[in-house]
Amino acid sequence: MFNSSCDVASLYIHWPFCPYKCHFCPFVALASHDHFMERYHEALIKEIKLYGDYAFKRPIETIFFGGGTPSTYPPELLLDMFGILNNTFEFAGAPEISLEVNPGTVTQEKISAWKKLGITRLSIGVQSLNNQVLTSLNRHQKADDVLHLLDMAASEFEVLSIDLILGLPGISQQEWYELIQKAMTWPIKHLSVYFLTVHEDTPLYYGVARKKIALPTDDAMVALYEWTAKTLEEHGFLQYEVSNFAKIGFESRHNSVYWKRLPYKGFGMGACSFDGASRFQSEKNLMNYLTVVEAANSMQELEKLSIVSETLTESQVWLEQLMLGLRQKKGLSWQLVRNRLSEQERERFEAKIGEFIQLGYVDNNQTHFWLTTLGRAVENEIVVALLH
Ligand code: SF4
Repeated sequence: MFNSSCDVASLYIHWPFCPYKCHFCPFVALASHDHFMERYHEALIKEIKLYGDYAFKRPIETIFFGGGTPSTYPPELLLDMFGILNNTFEFAGAPEISLEVNPGTVTQEKISAWKKLGITRLSIGVQSLNNQVLTSLNRHQKADDVLHLLDMAASEFEVLSIDLILGLPGISQQEWYELIQKAMTWPIKHLSVYFLTVHEDTPLYYGVARKKIALPTDDAMVALYEWTAKTLEEHGFLQYEVSNFAKIGFESRHNSVYWKRLPYKGFGMGACSFDGASRFQSEKNLMNYLTVVEAANSMQELEKLSIVSETLTESQVWLEQLMLGLRQKKGLSWQLVRNRLSEQERERFEAKIGEFIQLGYVDNNQTHFWLTTLGRAVENEIVVALLH
């Protein structure tokens, strides 16, 4: 059971509705279910209120509305949501409140309403500007939608972030260079660059398996990633995590909660929570989610929502510390390695780090070790090698 007396200062709210289902999507996302929006919203606020009645509360520092496509949250319902949040929680002086936005789902009125509600940061799913490639992946947004959205949003929001996907099928090297160079002219403070991942049971997975879709080679992706990291740095976007780049002072505070393994509470279908010792994930099926929440009258009854409830063992904690530490620019401290590993394990670990330093994947000083840009492109392989 989620330890509600833990020190939660960050909330995640999941909005699963999308205008279409992208062929690469691994998220808890529903197309053609908009008629459930109001009922889902009622369930969300019930979950939040029941948690609020029960939990130890300290001022909230970050809230992230993720999805799905939270920019389809009807403005009158979002206003209601903020009313509930304000009644339920205290807020820290300058909370970071982020909303994920997809081009083609936004009007100037919506953007102004978000600003008035207190949202501070928009995270825009650009992914690519190639209309044909996006359409082939069932993502019905156009390059013009992106440019129009950036124009509208920049008039209201200081902090705009964009997401790009590196390695989409059909995007040439030259096209990627042009996308990054164009993005450097946009009014953004933050970029996330994700490698395309082919998730099982997605249309993309079957297209690749049947050889109907060809993906770029790993070497081509690594070369583009290195070029991207270098180019972004030259434009003042400093890499602070494997996939994230920001102008100084505009790093995502919410994401750093995940990377630092601090507690957070998630609400909604498929939402994850962490209380410092255990990880939880809620029901991913809409009807099951609604049925449990609508019948619940206490935080205890909401426990039935958990489809994952796992107290981490010491070795799982070490794995998380290693993975999350290496994802971040500052890396991991040698002290943590000394605390975690026996002398024999440490010798083996340090020998492997030495090999990675020779290969140019890792760098270090007296207190810390971290991945180089080359190492960040193959982070998973390095973690696996360090653990065996
Ligand atoms: S918009 Fe995002 S969440 Fe929705 S289907 Fe596409 S990738 Fe998934």
